[in-house]
Order: sequence, then C-alpha cells, then structure tokens
Amino acid sequence: MIERAALLGEIARLRAAIRQTLADNGHLADGDVCTLRILKDALGIHTCRKCGADMQPGVTCPECGWSTT
Ligand SMILES: [Zn+2]
Repeated sequence: MIERAALLGEIARLRAAIRQTLADNGHLADGDVCTLRILKDALGIHTCRKCGADMQPGVTCPECGWSTT
C-alpha cells in the first residue's frame, strides 16, 4: 500500500513539473487552442480569452475584468 504522504509528495512534484513546463513555454500559449491547454486544465488554470492572462475558472480576469459567465 502506498502511503498518503508519498502520494501527496508525488502530486506536488507533478504539479511543480507542469507549472515549470507552463512557465518555460508561456510563449506558446494562445488561448482556447493553446498548445498547453491540457496541462493548464489539469491544474485548473484557465486563460482569459480577452487578454490571455491566467485566471481561475468561474471568476473575472484579474487583468482585464473579463468573465467566463
Ligand atoms: Zn483578461
């Protein structure tokens, strides 16, 4: 049986790796057809359709005020 702490550690490593990949490849981001969309979705990160800023789902964009709703 895998220990809970080991699982949480693995999740943290994977999330960090995904975030690093997103940070290193931000120039590839282009909204809905973003090359990195799958990774962003996996972390619950959405991209503002108006300005391209990272935003949380269901809230207004912190940069431009655009809302998904
Ligand atoms: Zn925006």
